[in-house]
Amino acid sequence: MPSAQISQNGVNLVKESKGLFADYGALTFDKKAMARNLSKATYQQILDVIENDEKLEVEIADEVAHAMKEWAISQGATHFCHWFQPQRGVTAEKHDSFLSFDETGQPIDRFSGRQLIQSEPDASSFPSGGMRSTFEARGYTAWDPTSPAFLLKNSDGKGATLVIPSVYLSWTGETLDMKTPLLRAVRVVEERAFKLLKLFGNRTARNVRVTIGPEQEYFLVRKEFYRRRPDLVYAGRTLFGAASAKQQQLEDHYFGSIQPKVLEFMTDLDRALFERGIPAKTRHNEVAPNQFELAPIFETANLAIDHNLQLMEIMRKTADDHGFALLLHEKPFSGINGSGKHLNWSMADSEGQNLLEPGAAPKKNIQFLVYLAAFLAGVNKYGGLLRAAVADAGNDHRLGANEAPPAIMSVYLGEYLDRLLTDIEKGSLSKDASREAIGHGLKSLPSIVLDNSDRNRTSPLAFTGNKFEFRAVGSSQSIAEPATALCLAVADGLDRVLEKLEKHAGDEDFTKRALDVVRELVKETKRIRFEGNGYSEEWHREAARRGLPNAKNTPDALETFVEKAVVELYERYKVLSKHELEAKHEIKLEAYVKLKEIELRQLRELIVTDIAPALVRQIDLYGSAAGRLESAKGGKELKAKLAEFGGLLAELYAGADGAEKVLEKAGAETDMVQRAKVFAGAGVETLSEMRSACDRTEQAVEHRYWPLPKYRDMLNLL
Ligand code: ADP
Ligand code: MG
Repeated sequence: MPSAQISQNGVNLVKESKGLFADYGALTFDKKAMARNLSKATYQQILDVIENDEKLEVEIADEVAHAMKEWAISQGATHFCHWFQPQRGVTAEKHDSFLSFDETGQPIDRFSGRQLIQSEPDASSFPSGGMRSTFEARGYTAWDPTSPAFLLKNSDGKGATLVIPSVYLSWTGETLDMKTPLLRAVRVVEERAFKLLKLFGNRTARNVRVTIGPEQEYFLVRKEFYRRRPDLVYAGRTLFGAASAKQQQLEDHYFGSIQPKVLEFMTDLDRALFERGIPAKTRHNEVAPNQFELAPIFETANLAIDHNLQLMEIMRKTADDHGFALLLHEKPFSGINGSGKHLNWSMADSEGQNLLEPGAAPKKNIQFLVYLAAFLAGVNKYGGLLRAAVADAGNDHRLGANEAPPAIMSVYLGEYLDRLLTDIEKGSLSKDASREAIGHGLKSLPSIVLDNSDRNRTSPLAFTGNKFEFRAVGSSQSIAEPATALCLAVADGLDRVLEKLEKHAGDEDFTKRALDVVRELVKETKRIRFEGNGYSEEWHREAARRGLPNAKNTPDALETFVEKAVVELYERYKVLSKHELEAKHEIKLEAYVKLKEIELRQLRELIVTDIAPALVRQIDLYGSAAGRLESAKGGKELKAKLAEFGGLLAELYAGADGAEKVLEKAGAETDMVQRAKVFAGAGVETLSEMRSACDRTEQAVEHRYWPLPKYRDMLNLL
């Protein structure tokens, strides 16, 4: 049945619709659901908790819990769980049923305020970096009311679970998750940004919020191929694979028309996201074949991050329903682009004013420049931390490996803004220090900045008109870590600004003072500004001259987490203690080590059980043919090929032995830093040698003997 009918006079009658977004957020206990299911007073209280940072009164928890349970059960839920973010960067959950018994022993459904607020998962197997030994492995999760609870539906539609976003702490108060530090850091930067706003005379805003929009890149591969590639399944990326004849050289995929099957997946995905209240906005093909991107509308930091974590899960599941495996790894295929997650970052006041948006009036523009300067100051001081916050084995293939973006944390402002800052630095904008002069020079800022931004895709931190885009984040990572680091860096920059300006609050020449601060910070942070090509050799040399950190691999980058300046930053803002940072360092090193172990073992196994045997068959075949052709034409060529194959076989086995040696050597290191360094050095080298031998073998062996899907299979969705 077509949905539009033709009336007698030929006019289209649109079938009555409940509206495109009638089901938006239907699976969340959002404000709408709360307003419907809670008493007015309780609803108001909970709104205050969510929006105005009020403290949650335990008395209302029982009512909220009961309402949540009734709402969840009406939609098929039988269980609830606290959902939290252990430091390994994915989410964790443990389900409990609503089952309880009344006085007469009859089963009833029950969900108390206590159960809503706190839960005790068995924490013994979550990484804690030595903070908890197993026998005292007791942590608890606590409800985060600022992120709405949601329903996780079973794929067959039968049953659902009420999921409660939570933080995760140890009983001794130590932080075990990624959300707790994020919430703290966000608060720290928001408070400072708000103070500055008030200094500029704003009397109406009630607060400032960090806003985040993460653009998510991913690959799709047909499941039948994915399943037959253990490297993809266990390491998340192809550990070998010769380039197919056509990869991305025609540049015909980016923004190309979306294949029908992919579009069906995307449509289903959007529907699932909307039901969860996740504001998916843009979908398109990316540069590499089979690569795509989804960008949401930005939200407040905590929500944007929880939503991105849910989104990654929903994406995987929806892809699976459509016969695809969804790859979030930063570099699933060699030779074509990898995937990132651009973290768009800004701050807005409670009236919706974006603080990184150049205003229409000169005074507003000075305010904008002060926030900008604080941002630059933060990045200048803590560039190494930002690099550390995105360091992991997957991202090593992008950062510092000649792919977007480089590992050197520089800032791109766009030609106009760059020139403006240079003018301010030289003093040419305010020679007579009069307001007119300042006003004149800054008058046309907004439109020009917007028009000129976002031209440089090689910069890890780019100002894109009204927000910063941190492009170094990996596609599979939680943005909580980089967002925490960025918020703290900017908070430090803002504190420096506040220190200089607070004493001039209300002064006649406040604007001039503000511009002086901008000038001072612009001078100080010149070294991180770079407008050129971030991939070029010259930039790497230049950056070294400027003294910018350039950690080439994960273990090197991670060291920053335990450097004095970073420990001081996290402790000063009471986000993490030295001990907790050391634990973080350890956890991340361990994750790196484990993944590298898996990669080496997996490729070694594939060589021994699949790749070398395929080559041996080929040798067998050519060997007998060579015997038959002994002195005839072609015999010589076959023999030469056989010699070549023999060489390859030797290389393959040498690689497999090499992998064992690396594993042994690393295993002998008791110190985690040293162990990680073995993998980053000899480990990575051995993997690349093995890969090279495998790729050449793949190209040498007859197609029907080749046991594993090739790039040309996997990079084709038809
Ligand atoms: P592009 O990067 O392609 O120019 P947009 O400017 O539309 O695209 O934004 C890309 C991402 O940045 C989107 O996810 C969007 O929601 C997010 N974004 C836009 N404005 C802000 C903001 N003020 N704060 C945080 N994120 C933002
Ligand atoms: Mg972008």
